[in-house]
Amino acid sequence: MKYFFTYSMLFYCICCTGQSISKNKFIKFENKDSVFEAKLMLFLEEFITDLKEDRDTIRHVDKDHFEKNKIFFGFVSNYSESATYEDENFYQAQLLNCYPIADKTFKIQIGYLGSPDSSEPIVHTIFNLKAMETDAGFVFESHFEENLRSWHRRKLDNIVFRYEDSFDESRAWKFEKFNKEFAELNDVDPLQFEYIKGINPHHVLELFGIDYAVAYNGEVRGLGHATEDHFVSGINEEGYEHDLIHNYYGQINKGKETYRPWEEGICAYYAGSWGDSFAEMMTKFANFMDKNPETNLWEKYEEKFRIGKHDIRFLCNGLLVKKLVEEVGYSSIVDVLECGKKGEEYFKKLNNYIELDEHNFHSTIMDLLQNIQ
Ligand SMILES: [Zn+2]
Repeated sequence: MKYFFTYSMLFYCICCTGQSISKNKFIKFENKDSVFEAKLMLFLEEFITDLKEDRDTIRHVDKDHFEKNKIFFGFVSNYSESATYEDENFYQAQLLNCYPIADKTFKIQIGYLGSPDSSEPIVHTIFNLKAMETDAGFVFESHFEENLRSWHRRKLDNIVFRYEDSFDESRAWKFEKFNKEFAELNDVDPLQFEYIKGINPHHVLELFGIDYAVAYNGEVRGLGHATEDHFVSGINEEGYEHDLIHNYYGQINKGKETYRPWEEGICAYYAGSWGDSFAEMMTKFANFMDKNPETNLWEKYEEKFRIGKHDIRFLCNGLLVKKLVEEVGYSSIVDVLECGKKGEEYFKKLNNYIELDEHNFHSTIMDLLQNIQ
């Protein structure tokens, strides 16, 4: 009885101070009383508050479990803001379902939902968790490790590959070779990690226990997420060099202000993008310029124009990266990377190596593009 009052009072306080999670109006807690419900909502409230604020530790999640599942928790964190609706608290968490799967263990489903004033509600994410009831309350866990349990494991030097069905060893060695070469280029040790080979983004979301994520509508390629020791990809390949480069820079440049469109140029040059090699990207770029000769590349750069899936800024920077690597050396492209988060010193840095400004940008890039063909 003591617990009932404690939880009811706390829950009452949360409701009065603005809550982080609500309940689906039609939810049923089979054979459970209101104490159970109040306790679950109280623990979920603290758990969701920490996710929303993207904290480094999440209440009611075991520390070890959190470390091993950082990619999953990253996926469901920091969710509330909508750029489209210009609202920091557009998406709200809701408990959609809760049912027992074992003794004192429940599967719970949570949705992040937004309601614009004048149109249909919008679903941001729907995901599942395991909730284990303890004497103190609840502990929450991701289904990720459980879903990987039956997967194969194969270690090649620095990388442990995890895969469900097929494994292409020569592709995997190519990835590990690139891992060593890129480490050497940066004068660091090769990264060591577990690489989880997903078929496509939806397959990876399923592994995470995520039923829906708004960012992956229609996508069949492109998901890559990594922490220090895990790398999850959704491209159905034993390697993802493009994202491995991002992982290196993420670790090497921690805390530094780097310019992402330049980093994308580096990734494009060494590893291509969106399933195209650098050469294929350049062919598409050249074809577009043939058909649209009136295009001014600096104007399009500032517009963040896209040629198919390829951002024009990354195509142009890929060409500049190629020139600098070939004529000056790798250190020059790393130097340009630190030209400010918004590229404030883009031309200033580049001018140490090549005469470039917004007036000769178009002709310089066109020359580089024509010379590559
Ligand atoms: Zn990229």
